[in-house]
Amino acid sequence: MNAVVLCCLLQAAADPYASAREAMVREQIASRDVTDRVVIQAMRQVPRHEFVPPELRDQAYADHPLPIGHGQTISQPYIVALMSQMLKLGPGLRVLEIGAGSGYQAAVLSRLAAKVYTIEIVAPLAESARQTLKRLGYHNVEVRHGNGYLGWPEQAPFDRILLTAAPREVPAALIEQLKPGGLLVAPVGGTPFSQELVTIEKTLDGKIRRRRGIPVLFVPMVSPPE
Ligand code: SAH
Repeated sequence: MNAVVLCCLLQAAADPYASAREAMVREQIASRDVTDRVVIQAMRQVPRHEFVPPELRDQAYADHPLPIGHGQTISQPYIVALMSQMLKLGPGLRVLEIGAGSGYQAAVLSRLAAKVYTIEIVAPLAESARQTLKRLGYHNVEVRHGNGYLGWPEQAPFDRILLTAAPREVPAALIEQLKPGGLLVAPVGGTPFSQELVTIEKTLDGKIRRRRGIPVLFVPMVSPPE
């Protein structure tokens, strides 16, 4: 057996999904408008199949969202990559995510930033995201079970904030917890078919600039029962 064949066999044994992940990056991400090499590299590295229910692993690298239980979904790979790119991340930055879900987006962000804080309102999802991230060695991610509308005041301010559930309007507490010079990206809209990706920039002198982006479809951001 020659060395190249042996190497591929060893790789496949270590990660049977490696070639599916490569195909996902090539066909769904790099071929569309995701050009940031660091984002592409992160999408190449993070084992998405570890973040989906075992019975759906064979679909983990397909071009659509998947159910993760409790009526929630892990976003389509392309959307994860696109939002990661829109955040313009870099070494040293601290990021807050609202809607940990499976923990996959947080794992991708953790490759692009210094520290990721992520909040999840469904307790069992928060727990399983925490376990998965720990098991896979994403030690710069902290998961909290709580209400994302309140943000994470103890750790604020954040350089970047990403919402992966859609509020009607971006919560004021989150804009407050954004650093001057920071960016927030969120799907915003009252009904599922009126959502769009919005970017909010807080300028160094504290002004808020808002830009509207592409239409998207996310699960709604919910409020806890009174
Ligand atoms: N980022 C996730 C997918 C998010 S799905 C991933 O990579 O898998 C949206 C998540 O937002 C769901 O898990 C939902 O329970 C959560 N969510 C909805 N409203 C919330 C709120 N107010 N605070 C925190 N999480 C919320």
